[in-house]
Amino acid sequence: MLDCVIVGAGPAGLAVAHTLAKAGIASTILECGAIAHNIAQYPPYMRYFSTNANLEIDGFPLGITEEKPSRREYLKYLTDFVQFHHLDVRPYTEVIGLTRLPDGTFRLDLTRHGRPLEPLIARTVVLAVGAWDDVRRLDVPGADLPKVRYRYTEPHDYVGQRVLVVGGRNSAVEAALQLWRSGAKVALSYRRSEFTGVGLKYWLRPDIENRLKNGEIEGHLGSNVTRIDHESVTLRLADGTERTIANDFVLPMLGYDPPVSFLRACGVELEPETNRPLHDATTLESTVPGLFIAGVITAGNVSGHVFIENSRHHGELILPRLRSLIG
Ligand SMILES: Cc1cc2nc3c(=O)[nH]c(=O)nc-3n(C[C@H](O)[C@H](O)[C@H](O)COP(=O)(O)OP(=O)(O)OC[C@H]3O[C@@H](n4cnc5c(N)ncnc54)[C@H](O)[C@@H]3O)c2cc1C
Repeated sequence: MLDCVIVGAGPAGLAVAHTLAKAGIASTILECGAIAHNIAQYPPYMRYFSTNANLEIDGFPLGITEEKPSRREYLKYLTDFVQFHHLDVRPYTEVIGLTRLPDGTFRLDLTRHGRPLEPLIARTVVLAVGAWDDVRRLDVPGADLPKVRYRYTEPHDYVGQRVLVVGGRNSAVEAALQLWRSGAKVALSYRRSEFTGVGLKYWLRPDIENRLKNGEIEGHLGSNVTRIDHESVTLRLADGTERTIANDFVLPMLGYDPPVSFLRACGVELEPETNRPLHDATTLESTVPGLFIAGVITAGNVSGHVFIENSRHHGELILPRLRSLIG
């Protein structure tokens, strides 16, 4: 019988485990991939927009010379954090089921490399599973062609190629600019008629707007992709007409959805529009007693509201109620 199991070894799960440990409560962190698996999937050369101080957990120093860490530096930071604080992380251990038993404890069903493991029993559970589960896909003919790539890593693959980036938020705009600067012939399709500023870093907006204005990136604002073929892609434009453009690669960067079916199967109630788990804002306890949520998943699919900077303290919100439950 464990006092607390935390699902997810991203920044939120690690921060909660550390807060509990400081209060004398041991926890076990189950992680389906490596430590900070989701961050490890980010583009290799990505740099955070938050400064070092805003990404540190409980003052553990993020000692680098640049003002903002790269993906690689932050991954190293998180693994150092785990080792320094002796956190009990079990990587490659996926939670596939969570059941509240009649006595109020939880059974966690687990697999490792696809094979079932012995279930764990815990008094309390914290879900820090992130909101980066299902990549949003295009639903048009040709959306599954090999030239359609839903994860962007680096511009090298696309030098000299005709690339359509789909989307208008940070990931799409950053990719479009990086691709253009690296020598790809870039077009951008965004369903809105202008960049709203929501989900777009303030310094990216003038950059992309100027590239579109100068025709350096071919902009199709207010458009939707309707069909993808081997050598072309067809867009429905803002005026309702269709236009087919020559194309080698399509990079849809439409965001991600949280693990909705997993959360529902755990008994967590979700707000219909946002898939935000219903929870008490002061304790982060969900509608299932003893089951807490932490990190970016507290915002459901509303991206840009909760991130590392403003969820590092979630353990402190959870601690008093969790401590009262384990006695
Ligand atoms: C390109 C990019 C740049 C960003 N830049 C910044 C920034 O500058 N500043 C900032 O504050 N935020 C930034 N963010 C957001 C930030 O990375 C996320 O908010 C952060 O990773 C969320 O932390 P988390 O611990 O809540 O979730 P995650 O980091 O997503 O961690 C969740 C973990 O749970 C694991 N997991 C999920 N389901 C299961 C399961 N069933 N069983 C076991 N394990 C499971 C996952 O493998 C994952 O490791 C950025 C995001 C992106 C995509």
